[in-house]
Amino acid sequence: MRDETCIFCKIANGEIPSATVYEDPDFRVILDLGPASEGHALILPKNHFKDVCDLDEETAAKVLPLAAKIGAAMKKSLGCAGFNLVQNNGKEAGQTVFHFHVHVIPRYEGGPSIAAWECQPANADKLAQIAEQIKSALS
Ligand code: 5GP
Ligand code: ZN
Repeated sequence: MRDETCIFCKIANGEIPSATVYEDPDFRVILDLGPASEGHALILPKNHFKDVCDLDEETAAKVLPLAAKIGAAMKKSLGCAGFNLVQNNGKEAGQTVFHFHVHVIPRYEGGPSIAAWECQPANADKLAQIAEQIKSALS
């Protein structure tokens, strides 16, 4: 389950060196080369999945506990006040490397700030209609 053209496959499997903070048979956790804050890490499965929709259930079940473990270690070791888990799917959603990964971004008192979305107004009818649209596509 490797893609020979994928840089995260190479990093996750140790063919390209990285600042690794954690490794087990399924995952490598590395520091991001372009961090949003000090300690910004990426959780990479060793197998290639292009995004969350492609992920197998076994790997998926392990990702959130691992993210919590990394975040807790960041709070202990880096003194961050909290952390964000960010996971982008698709170019329009900001995904630039098409090998599933989870960002673990430490957040410190005093910043740096990280851009958030702007809330848009919505009304109850519109929310109900959109909820129906999504529900109808769930199988
Ligand atoms: P995405 O935008 O796909 O959610 O996140 C990709 C992330 O991978 C970016 O934050 C980017 O800085 C990071 N990145 C891209 N190439 C490399 C690399 O070769 N090594 C490391 N450590 N991070 C990378
Ligand atoms: Zn890959």
